[in-house]
Amino acid sequence: MLKENYRNVQENIQRACEKVNRSVDEVTLISVSKTKPLSMLQEAYDCGAREYGENKVQEMTEKEGQLPKDIHWHMIGHLQTNKVKYIAPYVHLIHSVDSLKLAQEINRQGEKCNRSIPILIEVNIAEEESKFGIKKDETISLVREISKLPHVAIKGLMTIAPFVDDPEDNRVYFRGIKELSVDIANENIDNVCMDVLSMGMTGDYMVAIEEGATMVRVGTGIFGERDYTGERN
Ligand SMILES: *Cc1c(COP(=O)(O)O)cnc(C)c1O
Repeated sequence: MLKENYRNVQENIQRACEKVNRSVDEVTLISVSKTKPLSMLQEAYDCGAREYGENKVQEMTEKEGQLPKDIHWHMIGHLQTNKVKYIAPYVHLIHSVDSLKLAQEINRQGEKCNRSIPILIEVNIAEEESKFGIKKDETISLVREISKLPHVAIKGLMTIAPFVDDPEDNRVYFRGIKELSVDIANENIDNVCMDVLSMGMTGDYMVAIEEGATMVRVGTGIFGERDYTGERN
């Protein structure tokens, strides 16, 4: 079942790429494994998955310790500054940076680990009250500030689009964030690259790819529905 899901998602990615003449190599599939047991992550691994997305520090760190070392771990959830230290040694990419304060702490921990930690700036493209992320028109100034930190490497932008029934409704937002990333790239800021565009989830990743996504974050489409019973959220 998971194997079939995984193949389906891969085929959909391929189809979306073909539709807009993009190479499938330009799109990285991140398997969003939050709340899922190790056995399912191992099953995805056996299908070829090497990029995993988690939204809680403790859960990600526990899983990282128990699964093969060639996995890349992506922090996709809101990150508290006091928890950066736990993931700093191994995290592959932090998708959810939306403040200078958080970036400064990542910089501090990066220095301790003797590495430059790759990050994305999370943009709240639809300016939804309920979401984290910085406003579109404040993004460039935040990028400029963070670019000065030597142990942080900005790789691009991330967004969580609104929850919609029709993925076409999010096309305008995906297009908007792609434009923003091109605008920032054109500023040629030192220590800033805009190669990564992390956008699209189970409901809308094909539209996101058509609009330029280079990373799609798919949970339900691979692992099935999440069960949050017994949890506060
Ligand atoms: C949970 C989550 C996803 C995956 O959502 P699905 O709809 O299950 O694919 C993607 N991105 C972020 C930031 C998430 O928190």
